[in-house]
Amino acid sequence: MSLDPVDFYDVRALLSEEERLVQETVARFVDEKALPLIPKAFDDHRFPSELVPEIAALGVLGCTLEGYGCAGLNSVAYGLICQELERGDSGLRSFASVQSSLVMWPIYTFGSEEQKRRWLPLLARGEAIGCYGLTEAHGGSDPNAMKTHAHKQGGDWVLNGSKMWITNGSISDVAVVWAQTDDGIRAFLVETKSPGFQAHEIERKLSLRASVTSALFLDGVRVPDENALLGAIGLKSALACLTQARYGISWGAIGAAIACLREVIEFTRTRVLFGRPLARTQTTQRRLADMVRRITTSQLLSLQLGRLKDQGRMQPAQVSLAKWNNVRMALDVARDARDLLGGSGITTEYCSMRHMLNLESVITYEGTEIIHELVVGQELTGFDAF
Ligand code: FAD
Repeated sequence: MSLDPVDFYDVRALLSEEERLVQETVARFVDEKALPLIPKAFDDHRFPSELVPEIAALGVLGCTLEGYGCAGLNSVAYGLICQELERGDSGLRSFASVQSSLVMWPIYTFGSEEQKRRWLPLLARGEAIGCYGLTEAHGGSDPNAMKTHAHKQGGDWVLNGSKMWITNGSISDVAVVWAQTDDGIRAFLVETKSPGFQAHEIERKLSLRASVTSALFLDGVRVPDENALLGAIGLKSALACLTQARYGISWGAIGAAIACLREVIEFTRTRVLFGRPLARTQTTQRRLADMVRRITTSQLLSLQLGRLKDQGRMQPAQVSLAKWNNVRMALDVARDARDLLGGSGITTEYCSMRHMLNLESVITYEGTEIIHELVVGQELTGFDAF
């Protein structure tokens, strides 16, 4: 019996029935609804927001949270969702990651009961969209250096500053904004219609073109005290949100690599050069075998990470290793697949270069590759070398 190239070790057999069902449902959505739109949306530098109601109807948004209209799935199911969405496009997975891990998760974890009741059902249904404003233009890797600040004035907070590279920024109803206060870094739920708040979409991106990325400007934005996320105290709370999102990214990157592998196997089987299919040459087979080796090891790594997460045993350094390994793996697979496609590989008719370009952002955001290496290095040595 021949092996499945994109599930070489039968990882599916290690999934529960519910996990398999979730994966199949999202895979069907990606194949039938998303992929027909994605290449053109990427060409047009447009996020296909018409997919949001269907993504929400699948129960994907905030799917690991309990109550408030959320599905209460486990972390492996969430990982599989990320994998399938990113098999479509990193932009789709970025939308779902930000909404779920960076907006709904902090509201659920750090918010008041009133904030949860107000926002989580709306965000789960996709009737409100959120963004996460941590990064500033002067250095995303060093968020402690943030300049955006919030001062208490009567019963309100007044926020001033700016944020850069914010996914969903210009299409958001609510922004989780991190700011310096007299008591250290805190988070605020900023309604984007508030006077003094502006979001400008960043144009001319060569990566994540089917995703909205924006700069946020806060000029004396008044936020009532009840919109402060009281439980979010210090940078460690911001990093806890990133751990959730990075976990999903580690799975998502596998999806991008799977899309490239499927495409390039098919291409090399049918592309005849020097009188034989490209797939009958030794170098091609070695390159395809190497892709399968990398994808398979990433799948096993992510599955074990998910099981640790569901047991409450996952450590941030393990997430860093997975994000670093799997995104590097996917980027290398996408680049090599692009090369094997020859000239055809440079258009959006094939998916490999689109994934390759997207992964250039994925390897940078949510902690660059270097930052994740340094997190692992810190774990090994006890020394912080940032
Ligand atoms: P820098 O921090 O300036 O890094 C530049 C280079 O220096 C990198 O190669 C880095 O690895 C390297 N470097 C950093 N520190 C060290 C060191 N100690 N030693 C050696 N090398 C080092 N942010 C949000 O808050 N919300 C979002 O929704 C969001 N979405 C994004 C979407 C996209 C498409 C992109 C591109 C970014 C997004 N970001 C978001 C920001 C992202 O998290 C940052 O880009 C990232 O953290 C890196 O910050 P930077 O771009 O300022 O690069």
